[in-house]
Amino acid sequence: MAFDPVQSLSRIRHEFGEHGGVNMSIEASTTFTVMAAETMPEIFLGEKGPDQGGCFLYGRHFNPTVYVLGRYLAAIEGTEAGYATSSGISAIACSIMQLCGPGDEVVASNAIYGGTFALFKEFFPLKTGINVKFVDISNLEEVKAAITDKTKAIFTESISNPTMVIADLPKLAELAHDVDAKLVVDNTFSPMLLSPAQHGADIVVHSLTKFIGGGSDIIAGAVCASKEFIAELMDLHTGAVMLLGPTMDPRVAFDLSLRLPHLGLRMQEHSRRAQFFADKLEALGLKVSYPGLESHPQHDLIESLTNTGFGFGGLFAIDLGTAERAYEFMNDLQQNEGFGLLAVSLGYFDTLMSCSASSTSSELTEEELADAGIAPGLVRISLGYTGTLEDRWDQFERALKRAKMI
Ligand SMILES: *Cc1c(COP(=O)(O)O)cnc(C)c1O
Repeated sequence: MAFDPVQSLSRIRHEFGEHGGVNMSIEASTTFTVMAAETMPEIFLGEKGPDQGGCFLYGRHFNPTVYVLGRYLAAIEGTEAGYATSSGISAIACSIMQLCGPGDEVVASNAIYGGTFALFKEFFPLKTGINVKFVDISNLEEVKAAITDKTKAIFTESISNPTMVIADLPKLAELAHDVDAKLVVDNTFSPMLLSPAQHGADIVVHSLTKFIGGGSDIIAGAVCASKEFIAELMDLHTGAVMLLGPTMDPRVAFDLSLRLPHLGLRMQEHSRRAQFFADKLEALGLKVSYPGLESHPQHDLIESLTNTGFGFGGLFAIDLGTAERAYEFMNDLQQNEGFGLLAVSLGYFDTLMSCSASSTSSELTEEELADAGIAPGLVRISLGYTGTLEDRWDQFERALKRAKMI
């Protein structure tokens, strides 16, 4: 049967709070007692833990509230386990550092979030000896050619940032598993609508800062994977999350837990509106990139991967030719129409728009931008769901006319 993230979450939410509350409880302790002194060494040895006797030790290790949020996120992704971190970038950094040591290699998509790109290209080789080879992830021959016996992970975003390239997850999983490497997928752009673990991904990472948080008010991240991998990350002696310490506050975990039950509805509405805009823009002859368009080169692929009923996501990109035209258009939308906000990030309830080449992807050189297909006038739009869709489209169309683009 097809995977249903909404059902999967709602089943696990039927485990109640401490006093039968409909919501989880906030456990604000940083340290936890044991009933017998003998239990403590067992926790240190990993013989007792949240899942083994309900034993907790210290808040940077496991916190019960953060742990429950991790289980909710795992339910949404359909993985055995999950744990939340203080940011998306820490979830990515810790996952890769857990899989790789000095001299090991990662094959990564060249069209990824700028911060991840900088982490992989500059920080890892310099500070950890982990080397990353960048490839066009939609070219499986290129991916295969980049794999060596040192490759420990293939890293990609499910829908790439900002070029909307779709990763062929089943094929990438096969390539990774052939050499005993893991497929690590950043699913920040497509929670609910795409479940990478159902298509062979071993580790799914998220920036909860975006769609999942939905309010642009919290920086947070998560790793969803096997029980074994989460245990490795949290190992008291060798775990990257435990020892580097990107710990989520339990109050934040509680806050985020309340946003998960309506995540599906929000994604549906983001998608419905983005599809409407993309259809209109394409009909007007503009250069628009959206996975829900039949003209998208990988439309059939994403259709074969997505869960039913959530559409194709809230982001589309439109190429306005030059950075100057892109700036002028965005200024007009924000200042004169009150449509959207000139800001980086995505997944907010209101529209956010930015010119990728000179903002979120400015970590890339001009050549790297060209390789990744990020044109100078490419505007990334994360479409919100405030106001009526009709009014929002009218505003956008007026601005397009003023810019003489239609
Ligand atoms: C924002 C983002 C990140 C980084 O997440 P933070 O929560 O800001 O640390 C990683 N990947 C993608 C695709 C993102 O959009």
